Amino acid sequence: MSSLELRLPIHETFQNTVQGEGYWTGCLVDFIRLAGCPVRCPWCDTGYADGGANLPRVLRTISELLAELQSPRVVISGGEPFIHKELPELVRSLLAAGKQVSIETSGAFWQELPAEAWVTLSPKHHVSPRYPVQPQFWSRANEVKIVISTGQELQVYEDFLPADPHFPCTYSQNGMKRPKRFRKC
Ligand code: SF4
Repeated sequence: MSSLELRLPIHETFQNTVQGEGYWTGCLVDFIRLAGCPVRCPWCDTGYADGGANLPRVLRTISELLAELQSPRVVISGGEPFIHKELPELVRSLLAAGKQVSIETSGAFWQELPAEAWVTLSPKHHVSPRYPVQPQFWSRANEVKIVISTGQELQVYEDFLPADPHFPCTYSQNGMKRPKRFRKC
């Protein structure tokens, strides 16, 4: 079977939108949201706080996903993209199609991905201690985005976050997201 016929469970896709968070804020992107996440953050804004049993989950081939793309950059989010063993093949297929690729993850599950893929690590260990960040992500991440409420959450990660990180960090609080620096698309 061709890798393009691999199927992944999709929560939703949408095209031609503007990235509203993090390093690529303001860039035109398409979204592929993969279904499923076991981390169960109580404030999950994508509906997986209770496991998401009733959320959309439609199996679609990589070929079908490629056919609907419109923007130069594709954001793979979830749910949690790294729980899907087909993720590396999806990324390779997007890169082969000439797309830039960004992936958003809690870091709780590790898979090796092509170096060209931009990885945004949004750790949830401080919310769900059963799901610590897999250690490889602290060197692999291109960007770290931490949801904070009191500021105490940062102590969970102080052993991992250097004072002058090699990656941009975003701390979000009460819906306000403040990237420390941006990049043109
Ligand atoms: S890790 Fe992300 S998708 Fe999963 S429950 Fe937490 S906020 Fe939701």
